[in-house]
Amino acid sequence: MKPPKSEIYDIAIKNGNIVDVRENRIIQANLGISGDKIAALTEEEISGRQMIDASGLTVAPGFIDFHSHVDGNEYSAACMAKQGGTTTLGGERNLNSKVYREIEETGFLINQGFSISQSFVLRNAFRIDMNRAASASEIKAMSTLAERFLQHGAFGICFAPELIPGTSTEEMLELARVAKSYECPILVHMRKDGREALAYFDEILRIAEETGVSVQILQLIYMVGIGGAMSDALKIIEDARKSGLDITADSGVYDTFSACIGTGIFDEGWEKEYGDVSVNDLLISSGIHLGEYCNEEMFQYLRTRHPETLISASVCDREAITMALKKDYVYVSTNAADGPHYMGVGAPEISGTFPRLLGRHVRENNDISLIDAIKKITILPALRFGLSCIGSIEPGKNADIVIFDKEHIIDRSDFVGQGKPDEPPDGIAYVLVNGKVIVEGKELTGDIHSGRLIKKTSYQF
Ligand SMILES: [Zn+2]
Repeated sequence: MKPPKSEIYDIAIKNGNIVDVRENRIIQANLGISGDKIAALTEEEISGRQMIDASGLTVAPGFIDFHSHVDGNEYSAACMAKQGGTTTLGGERNLNSKVYREIEETGFLINQGFSISQSFVLRNAFRIDMNRAASASEIKAMSTLAERFLQHGAFGICFAPELIPGTSTEEMLELARVAKSYECPILVHMRKDGREALAYFDEILRIAEETGVSVQILQLIYMVGIGGAMSDALKIIEDARKSGLDITADSGVYDTFSACIGTGIFDEGWEKEYGDVSVNDLLISSGIHLGEYCNEEMFQYLRTRHPETLISASVCDREAITMALKKDYVYVSTNAADGPHYMGVGAPEISGTFPRLLGRHVRENNDISLIDAIKKITILPALRFGLSCIGSIEPGKNADIVIFDKEHIIDRSDFVGQGKPDEPPDGIAYVLVNGKVIVEGKELTGDIHSGRLIKKTSYQF
């Protein structure tokens, strides 16, 4: 697209190496931004009221984190923004409609969208105990409620049967039918972790087959990156895809999962799913015992008195991350900011996932190409969740952009005791959300309202 000679853009980003995720190439060009949109992508000279010199830097679409627990938390959003995250999709646990309404009215640092949680929102609405199966009439009522959320712009329905053991296949089938009728995917945590998870793929495949719904299997590394199960899991997914089922998956880039201690993950016998571990391997990542490891007494105490305490468990196979990343149907999400999240607590995904992907897996280890990595956090999730106005740098699309130094980008955040979970990464130069610069270097610029509530219904061309 050629700019008219006289046009002065609000922002001109000059001489950057622009990642064209549609054509799988990197082009040196100038980018003109007007208002909240990308107005020009050109090799010709352009000028803007604000000029950004991107010489030697990579200019990518804003990173989309489609599975996080930011859910309106300003501190979590700040961490996410500093690592290049411009859009976060959440709602896996609670859907605090007040928070979402506020975002809709006054904006947010980054874009925030939501899915509907079967496990918490739908079941809680009808007070269905987590250990029992829902009745036919309860399933019908949940379906009606799910439909209301989908009409209001939710982008999918999320299931976590590991946390809600009473979830029946029947319940998942009915809700998957609702999702399908709105052309929305379902997002699924498996019923078990480790090798035990393999037996439960059948259930997911059956749901995909019987309803035709698109399925996103969440966080492979934390579920099947354990006990050598990843290669078997990938094989199952590949065979299912070959048979025509619409199944994709995602993974984080850490070999340590973090979850609240009160959840079903740590129910009686939990160690069996993770191999050679015990409570002594569990790192306390929030609360007054921050940085300590559990013992039996502490484990019981926290489970009963402080179930919201975040625990980090190093149980995953490191090589399983790369194994998953090499597959084009495996995207990257963070699963970040679960449990309480504020300064100094939590796990490093919230500040490090994308730079770790681009620094360690792309530059240092050469596991995948830069373009393939960027696609996993931009255009692929955008297409998956039907958000067609973000995910690529093209005139007319929303101006969500990350400018970074590919030679120096690296995560600096770490687990408590080993570093700061919220240490910003190196190598991010600028982050723009809807045409506004929100991060410069490692700092927020103070523009904290340019993010929007994403509704699937209105986030399409
Ligand atoms: Zn999660």
